[in-house]
Amino acid sequence: MSDFIPETFSDNKKNWTNFSKLCKGCGICIEKCPQKCLEFDKKRNNYYGTPAVKCDINKCIACEICEIHCPDMAIRVEKK
Ligand code: SF4
Ligand code: SF4
Repeated sequence: MSDFIPETFSDNKKNWTNFSKLCKGCGICIEKCPQKCLEFDKKRNNYYGTPAVKCDINKCIACEICEIHCPDMAIRVEKK
């Protein structure tokens, strides 16, 4: 299970975390992000065997749209 620990992308203003034990790889977050800063991570799979999601944190504006729309509560956005 250690392979499925959450992955967090951070800068000095926010954290964006993908919980790979919850993410089913539906891609809704990628579709909804207004900044187009999310994509499937070809190097990391989640618990269900589909690609996890990674975030280009420099483009992220912490709007939380991805967190709100994720049907599996697999994203957390935190402003610092
Ligand atoms: S919307 Fe949620 S479950 Fe779907 S790919 Fe994004 S993080 Fe995973
Ligand atoms: S918080 Fe907003 S800008 Fe950042 S990844 Fe989610 S939808 Fe995109």
